[in-house]
Amino acid sequence: MKLVILDRDGVINEDSENFIRTADQYIALPGAMAAIARLSNNGYTVAVATNQSGIAPGLLTLRDLAGIHDKLQQLAIAAGGEISKIVFCPHGPDDDCECRKPKAGLMNQLIDALGTPETCFMVGDNLRDLQAGMAVNAIPLLVKTGKGNRTIANSSLPHGSLPEGTLIFDDLRAVADWIIGRQSV
Ligand SMILES: [Mg+2]
Ligand SMILES: [Zn+2]
Repeated sequence: MKLVILDRDGVINEDSENFIRTADQYIALPGAMAAIARLSNNGYTVAVATNQSGIAPGLLTLRDLAGIHDKLQQLAIAAGGEISKIVFCPHGPDDDCECRKPKAGLMNQLIDALGTPETCFMVGDNLRDLQAGMAVNAIPLLVKTGKGNRTIANSSLPHGSLPEGTLIFDDLRAVADWIIGRQSV
């Protein structure tokens, strides 16, 4: 199994400083659903791992989040793709949980659900996404969408350096092109 783990906000959809609280506020980035479909149709298992710290203070409920993720699944299906599993951390930064990225809990949840991949990619716009992926030896792929350009700018700061081997792409579409293209090399 070849697994592509996607961060959600800023990778698949437009990010929001105020949290995405309803399915209506969930807006896919251009080409993102087509990229997921291309991965699905080329033999990759696609999963999503997302920190949703708005749950802890009650900015959105688990039911709201389920509605948002239903929409995400439906958008993927409508584009001809499939998201095999969505896992999320509902905790806040001060809750000291084991699942909030950069911790590895969400990665382990995915592997428990889907099996151990022979190849794994982690796609994120934030350093902590890539750091979480390192725990399962995922190849770190940074996109410039969402907070990606800020992550690149911060990478020269003491705690901002990107994991060794991180590759940088304009967006998820470019990531999918690269992942699919590398099979034929
Ligand atoms: Mg993000
Ligand atoms: Zn958590």
